[in-house]
Amino acid sequence: MKIVQKPTSNKFNGRDGWNPDMIVCHITEGSYAGAVSWMCNPVSQVSAHYCISRKGEVTQLVPLTDAAWCNGTSADASSGVYYGKSTLKTVRDRRTNANYYTVGIEHEGIYSQTYGALTDAQLTAAAELIAYIRSEVKRIYGTDIPADRSHIVGHSEIAPVAKPHCPGSGYPFHEIISRVKGEKTDETSSGQPYRVQTGAFSNQENAGRLEEKLQKKGYSTYTVVSDGLYKVQVGAYTEKKNAEAMAEKLKTDGFDVYITPGKERAGNADTAEKAIQVGSRVKVKPGAGTYEGDGLAGFVYENTYDVLEISQDRVVIGVGTAVTAAVRITNLYLA
Ligand SMILES: [Zn+2]
Repeated sequence: MKIVQKPTSNKFNGRDGWNPDMIVCHITEGSYAGAVSWMCNPVSQVSAHYCISRKGEVTQLVPLTDAAWCNGTSADASSGVYYGKSTLKTVRDRRTNANYYTVGIEHEGIYSQTYGALTDAQLTAAAELIAYIRSEVKRIYGTDIPADRSHIVGHSEIAPVAKPHCPGSGYPFHEIISRVKGEKTDETSSGQPYRVQTGAFSNQENAGRLEEKLQKKGYSTYTVVSDGLYKVQVGAYTEKKNAEAMAEKLKTDGFDVYITPGKERAGNADTAEKAIQVGSRVKVKPGAGTYEGDGLAGFVYENTYDVLEISQDRVVIGVGTAVTAAVRITNLYLA
């Protein structure tokens, strides 16, 4: 991958004896050019090892052997960035400035607009860069950085009080980790086919709002972008009963919920119908009735709907999370 070099003086020389073993993801809250220039400005006193643009361009500002100034934690318990406030046990236990043992990556984006979601080009670059960082750290230090959520983390996990929205709840950690590990990234072919989903939106802001509501209730959430929709999910499970338990809990808290059945749902439908899954955008075939055989209002045939739930050949369609009707899968086609 092409990495442009723009060395900055905003850094510590060396790592105070630590080896880097954690990669921390950030959002710039401004343009790529602006972020790179700010991190090169001695006045700012901030930096990251790398910055990735929305187009997938990458600039390096700090060598991996030095500590950047982006994940700073304080030993002062009254500080907003006190290490004891981190949600990560490693950060609390190490009792030192997290800059010493982390590698920081900035991603061009503005939280209020994107909630941390990346463009395709940016996602590809981020996965490639993280794979590259892991191999470089192994070469230089002999350290393996595991490709998991304890070692590829968000700034908000280091400093949840000071930086709750960096890089944002839509940052695709799971997708990146799958790519870094060289796994298939198709949602339904991952090892955890049962996904508890609480909404699918064509509008990213609505997905972000739902995520915030869920997070206020203590759920950890993430948004998967597929079929042009922002799908808010609360968990992925290998066992259906665990997904059902989470779905029950969410229902009790007043959320609409459905379990995406992953590769389980096959059925005998033709090719187009097989592609219909929860979150798909569909239209109803002209003249088709409800699942129970009742008539549908004329406008239904004009509109495009989200697939909210599928059980065998019964498909619940609607808009956002509002249910419109239940119909037979054979009466739907992809919009
Ligand atoms: Zn940050």
